[in-house]
Amino acid sequence: MPDSPDLTVVVPMYNEQEVLPLFVDRMRPVAESWGVSYEVLCVDDGSSDATPVLLQRLLREWPQLRVVRLRANSGHQAAISAGLARARGRHVVTIDADLQDPPETIGEMLRVARDEGVDVVYGVREDRSSDTAFKRVTARAFYRSIRALSDVDAHVDAGDFRLMSRATVDAVNALPESNRVLRLVVPALGFPSASVGYRRAPRAAGESKYPLAKMVRLSVDAVTGFSIAPLRFATWIGLVGGVAAIGVLVYAVVGLLLGNTLPGWTSTVVIVAAVGAVQLLALGILGEYVGRTYTALQARPTYFVAHDSLEQRSPAQPQGQTRT
Ligand code: UDP
Ligand code: MG
Repeated sequence: MPDSPDLTVVVPMYNEQEVLPLFVDRMRPVAESWGVSYEVLCVDDGSSDATPVLLQRLLREWPQLRVVRLRANSGHQAAISAGLARARGRHVVTIDADLQDPPETIGEMLRVARDEGVDVVYGVREDRSSDTAFKRVTARAFYRSIRALSDVDAHVDAGDFRLMSRATVDAVNALPESNRVLRLVVPALGFPSASVGYRRAPRAAGESKYPLAKMVRLSVDAVTGFSIAPLRFATWIGLVGGVAAIGVLVYAVVGLLLGNTLPGWTSTVVIVAAVGAVQLLALGILGEYVGRTYTALQARPTYFVAHDSLEQRSPAQPQGQTRT
């Protein structure tokens, strides 16, 4: 690209009217101190509050700002994917809008990427004391299990604050999978990487846009996207159940021969219930993968771009659908 900036900062935003002014006040001086050409690409993930209005106003004041609005709320990962698909920078950094990830760290990431010649620089949380205990425990359990289940070497304390080279971004954009979990997709590429530690701050304003349901969805996407271990798990439970059934069979036959066959109601009920539960679990796991295959086959885009401030001057272009 002829006029590609040195750095694109991708910022997903969903109903962030409270933090947006704080974010801009902190981000802009930092960005200006880098001494490189940059664009700050805010992906408005279908916000229903004043976020789009504030962004439009900011566009007039900050020439390096660029706004991509999605037609509907598509989720954090889809919003980042939309940003990556449109970023023009030679390096691209993704950062949350709520100032939990310090913008000051970006300069250090860029320096590390250039000095060490790596493609990816992960922001690694050295101190998560600002997160709730629940978030810390669930996050830890999540990364532990994903590391155990798949062979992706994802850092336990790395989220979506990372810097990527153009080659990495192109590689991610070329992946056909939808519902991609970027914090696993990127390490799975296996490109040379380094990491920079930072302190995770509390949310600057507003509320978390990540309710438990979205966290569960992210975990299921992560596990089913990177591992077929759960399917094997179902097989193993089946095998163990089969062995147990043989044991019960022997017990039943011995009981029959000895003539004490009547008092068996409790064990029967327990066995029927347990087998039923295991079967349902196995079917559910299978269903998750079948569903994922089905969704992949439909190849529906995970987001639709409503407008991009960069294209507003060249009207009447057919609005392309972008697939993540
Ligand atoms: N976000 C988004 N779409 C969503 C939910 C969240 O673009 O559907 C953005 C949000 O505006 C923020 C980032 O993703 O910039 C991380 O969200 P949040 O801070 O609420 O998550 P948490 O830090 O609580 O996990
Ligand atoms: Mg946050």
